Amino acid sequence: MAILNADLHCHSTISDGTLEPEALAARAHANGVELWALTDHDELGGQQRAMQAARALGLPYLTGVEISVTFAGLTVHIVGLGVDPEDAQLRDGLARTRGGRERRAREMAEQLAAVGIRGAFEGALKYVGNPELISRTHFARYLVEAGVCHDTHEVFRRFLTEGKPGYVEHRWATLGDAVRWIRTAGGVAVIAHPARYAHPNPTQEYALFAEFKAHGGQAVEVVTGSHSEAEALRYADLALEFGLAASRGSDFHSPDESHTDLGALPLLQGRLTPVWELLADRIIH
Ligand code: AMP
Ligand code: MN
Ligand code: MN
Ligand code: MN
Repeated sequence: MAILNADLHCHSTISDGTLEPEALAARAHANGVELWALTDHDELGGQQRAMQAARALGLPYLTGVEISVTFAGLTVHIVGLGVDPEDAQLRDGLARTRGGRERRAREMAEQLAAVGIRGAFEGALKYVGNPELISRTHFARYLVEAGVCHDTHEVFRRFLTEGKPGYVEHRWATLGDAVRWIRTAGGVAVIAHPARYAHPNPTQEYALFAEFKAHGGQAVEVVTGSHSEAEALRYADLALEFGLAASRGSDFHSPDESHTDLGALPLLQGRLTPVWELLADRIIH
């Protein structure tokens, strides 16, 4: 099982990806993915479609979601794999986590207007597939269209990250709630792309791992589209230190924007426990 080409992290139009769930399934299959999960932000609305498309292709599937969490003042993402998409507690928790996105987006647009970029709320809305899930990514796409920036990465750098004129603080779910929702829905909680968090010191990163584990978290993404080789090695060590299983996922959003395509990742190292070994009975064939 260890050498599976599993891709357990990506986004569809149900959140901030540009492809429909069916197109993602076809792309994963064409790229040689052997186990796939769609993990839209704070939303399960694409799960039935992804599952059905995967089944039609003979592609083994795990349900998924990526939950936005506020931990020690930072936004951290927790992926849930193998969750029951009908679980009431998980669905309620996600609905509450999504609430406030529109208000936040209007504030972002006001701040952008103050630096001379008008109509950003309406502009971002044009890219939104799910009205409950307006995200920074949609603003980034609009600012590229408007010619303000060359690409979405530049938009994040100049406007949408902490300290920049379009950034609005937001309070997401707590770490404990996110892990509990995932676990009560029968899933495994995974710390997403751990190298992407700007912890002010190593102690805070240690605290994230320790608290995650104490709440019942069981895995961490080691190989992801946003980790360098050195980062993958570092988090392989941390996974072993904390007794966490390892996950692998591209975090694919769009053929035009994502550096790493579905299935195009280095394999997990043999010394790690792949997260799918904890989820054997949750895989949908
Ligand atoms: P939100 O949930 O609205 O805060 O948006 C977060 C999303 O923005 C992430 O899931 C990524 O898709 C995207 N994102 C965050 N930071 C960057 C970045 N530096 N460059 C490109 N996309 C980013
Ligand atoms: Mn995203
Ligand atoms: Mn993420
Ligand atoms: Mn993601």
